[in-house]
Amino acid sequence: HGSFSVDGAVQATNDEASSSKLSCVKKGYMQDAYIQYFVRKPTRRSPIINRGYYARWASIRKLLLQFLEAGSSSNNQHKKQIVSLGAGFDTLFFQLQDENHAPHLVLEVDFKEVTSKKAIIIDTYEPLRAKLGSNSDISKEQGKIFSDHYKLLPADLRDLSSLDLILDQANIDPSLPTLILAECVLIYLDPDVSRALVQWAGKKFPNSIFIVYEQIHPDDGFGRQMLKNLESRGCPLLGLHDTPTLEAKIRRFIDHGWQRSEALDMDVIYNQHIDQKDRKRIERLELFDEFEEWHILQEHYCISYGINDQLGIFSCFG
Ligand code: SAM
Repeated sequence: HGSFSVDGAVQATNDEASSSKLSCVKKGYMQDAYIQYFVRKPTRRSPIINRGYYARWASIRKLLLQFLEAGSSSNNQHKKQIVSLGAGFDTLFFQLQDENHAPHLVLEVDFKEVTSKKAIIIDTYEPLRAKLGSNSDISKEQGKIFSDHYKLLPADLRDLSSLDLILDQANIDPSLPTLILAECVLIYLDPDVSRALVQWAGKKFPNSIFIVYEQIHPDDGFGRQMLKNLESRGCPLLGLHDTPTLEAKIRRFIDHGWQRSEALDMDVIYNQHIDQKDRKRIERLELFDEFEEWHILQEHYCISYGINDQLGIFSCFG
């Protein structure tokens, strides 16, 4: 297992994600009334970074809403679960509560260093705490929150037995339709570890979609620079060389117990799958002239997913 300093650098990537999201929110790219509580020093990001985070947020949001609506036309309404691996300071649960899209259960997992900070923040700010409902138990030292529809638990994703344990503690029902999210997380794991994680989830959840957002194409000029930037902050990107192409991302699912899989780069997703009206809206928010760099940047990020669909309820970007 990695040394403290490497794990610490990986945990710090979460602060950067949170502050980039807040930068987007302040510029009007998306609404999120909660991310402000998780950022100590708000920083402004460049238009290209803001647009990239918007694209990431909008595409994951689209898959998420599709999942939450899946099967809702049948008589048999299914309770839904979300399991966020390396959730960081994601505010998903709080947003979905506001939007009346809240699933039966959201479970967030991260290193204890991160979950205890998150527990402290949630406990500190009433608008966050209120969303947990009356039946909630926050342990700041242990980095744990138990409430009716939201659980926050510490675990190291490299240790699958600890994951089994927290699924039990969180009362996750593996047979229910479940969305598993790993947003900018697997690249920090050793390839063997992320394969094991994908396989573990595929075995465990017969009705699930596992969504992975991460970098791709590490081997061209831009990709090498992107890796160097991240690695200079002390985070070796262990997982990326193993899945350098869309085909490799798909194979990671298909070879490890998933029925179907798809992978799309963010340039394609931004052009074809994000709501056109919203795209037009955000493209007017800031002066923007880095079109060439924008396309190259987006080609270096992708979403891949695996689906297990015993109930036959899942669709995706399509
Ligand atoms: N998913 C969040 C998002 O997109 O905003 C946070 C992304 S942040 C770049 C990566 C997160 O993965 C960090 O919070 C980090 O602590 C977590 N992480 C990385 N490796 C982990 C591991 N082995 N066990 C638990 N969490 C891990």
